[in-house]
Amino acid sequence: MSSPSRLPQPTAQVAAIPPMTPFVAPEELARRVGRSELLRLGANESAFGPSPRAIGAMREAVSLTSWYGDPESLQLRAALAARHDCAVEEIVVASGIDDLMGLIVRAFCAPGAACVATRGTYPTLFYHLNAFGGRAEFADPNEAGGIVPENIAAAVRRSGAKLVYVANPDNPSGAFVDRATLAALREALPDDVLLFLDEAYADFVPRDELPPDVIDPRTIRTRTFSKAYGMAGARIGYALASADVIATFQKLRLHFGVNRTAQLGALAALDDAAFLRGVIAEVERGRDEYHALAAHHGLPSLRSWTNFVCIGIGTRAEAEAMVGALLELGVFVRKPWAPPIDGYVRVTVGTAGERAAFAERFAEALDRVREKAAT
Ligand SMILES: *Cc1c(COP(=O)(O)O)cnc(C)c1O
Repeated sequence: MSSPSRLPQPTAQVAAIPPMTPFVAPEELARRVGRSELLRLGANESAFGPSPRAIGAMREAVSLTSWYGDPESLQLRAALAARHDCAVEEIVVASGIDDLMGLIVRAFCAPGAACVATRGTYPTLFYHLNAFGGRAEFADPNEAGGIVPENIAAAVRRSGAKLVYVANPDNPSGAFVDRATLAALREALPDDVLLFLDEAYADFVPRDELPPDVIDPRTIRTRTFSKAYGMAGARIGYALASADVIATFQKLRLHFGVNRTAQLGALAALDDAAFLRGVIAEVERGRDEYHALAAHHGLPSLRSWTNFVCIGIGTRAEAEAMVGALLELGVFVRKPWAPPIDGYVRVTVGTAGERAAFAERFAEALDRVREKAAT
């Protein structure tokens, strides 16, 4: 036997990464509580599935699985370019925003350099920063967990960061800032600072409230088919940026990282505007129901521009107990990780039936948490 120190070792940089589990998946959570499945309201997946047209296109495409997908995703990029009134060269398609995050960090955040983000926001970027040697520098959020442009600009000055991450609408808070506020933030940042605008939930916001489709060489905007389009498992999203920035990603990205089935499914999904409108309307109804559910129990909830709502349970410990109590009852939700909204749980809008089931189990879980708090 060779001694352990003689076995293959990861690089020093990788060995230094703390062990992390970005997200414990609902499949694993179900195994832990001995259930075959959970009421799945914790990952902001769509309860309304992909468009039937997308399903049809993907069914047909499956027989082409023996081929690699078009590495340029050209057909899809052409459709997206028409939609966003930009050039094909200003779009890159990748296997979701999470994939694009890795490309952005590798391309624009040198080892040891800072990236500014608002404390509490969607954490996947930080896993990439850790792995590639960058570091997160946090700006304080407002009382609803949303961004404060002045705090971001101050954190950039303090840290010398060349990369800023803003999710708009934000996850997990659900907060949204309008185009004028974003434009002011962009102007407040030095020109050599790249603004990464993660617009995973943009489809839930009226188009005229989003930044206009103008390519800014200092800004990257990312979109996904995972949320409103209901295609999270297909793993497909895209970035809008200057041709120079996109050309940089072309050097780094996994050549065949996006499969043909996803490309053709996304293309068909873009064509089904009526389906998307239906999803958005139902999500709005679902949000209203969750706000009413919270109010019914005397709990606060955060205004949301997404397909989820945060409901205030109490302290951080109580919110954590609530996530646990819901899991015991077969419900998968998650919660914000940072103050001032870490006393909230975040629940995804489900179908009408799922919402009714959630309301029942929410009441029961809340009883359990309150009983425990009282003893
Ligand atoms: C869900 C989510 C993502 C991940 O999107 P994929 O395209 O599925 O990788 C990225 N950013 C935010 C803010 C999200 O909520």
